[in-house]
Amino acid sequence: VPSATQIEQTVTSELTYAGGKTRLFVQAELRAGVEFTITDQSHYLLHVMRAKEGDLLSVFNGRDGEWIARIAQAAKRGCVLVCEKQREGQRDVPDVWLVFAPIKKTPADYVAQKATELGVRALQPVMTRRTIVTRVNIDRLRANAIEAAEQSGRLTVPDVRKPETLDRLLDAWPRERRLVFCDEGGEAPLMGEALKSEPDGPFAILSGPEGGFDPEERAMIRERSFVMPVSLGSRILRADTAALAALAIWQSAKGDWR
Ligand code: SAH
Repeated sequence: VPSATQIEQTVTSELTYAGGKTRLFVQAELRAGVEFTITDQSHYLLHVMRAKEGDLLSVFNGRDGEWIARIAQAAKRGCVLVCEKQREGQRDVPDVWLVFAPIKKTPADYVAQKATELGVRALQPVMTRRTIVTRVNIDRLRANAIEAAEQSGRLTVPDVRKPETLDRLLDAWPRERRLVFCDEGGEAPLMGEALKSEPDGPFAILSGPEGGFDPEERAMIRERSFVMPVSLGSRILRADTAALAALAIWQSAKGDWR
């Protein structure tokens, strides 16, 4: 194992691509000297990034921070990586979840990517009365979240939950978590203003499907004690726009954009 100074000196040979350095989300435990094999990502590493034995890259697993790893063995079936030096300790994004109704026109993949970049902790698909999409591919959502986490510099991948009906979700809701309800009805206060008078704490954002929530659902959401209805202004936003705009407002009022 090379010394820390040798590693510092070789960091310049670290794999880079147009947007930055190569980062991979891995399953292995990361500690100095640990050796592990990656299989799924080895095609990407060897053929897309043109990596060779001896090259360095960054790896993270959502628990042990970010590490510099060296490619000890490069083979088609799998690459052996050796963990060399921790570059950064573990950190997480602010505590906000996105509860969103999957929509037809914009694939949920896109929402998963963008919400991950914006720094969401969990993605919860919700089935409402007007939700048209009946199947959500969780594995694909997760793959999109991983890719976005790798490129955005996050040290965690958002928790991608299985779809749940609105009723069940609200019944089992953790009461200490404020649920910001994106309500295009008109009479709710503007989200940015409303958040100013809220204490810090765990939050979630709820945005509806292309047809919106039906009147009964809307009433049922609004009567819950943990719900805070908000407006995103006078224009009706498409479901994906609403979800992502709400996340941006939250990060600047309560998250890490302040
Ligand atoms: N019911 C609307 C469209 C719904 S827009 C219609 O058919 O006219 C999809 C979702 O985005 C809504 O359910 C809501 O959660 C959110 N949304 C869109 N524009 C919004 C706004 N101006 N304020 C708050 N939420 C909004």
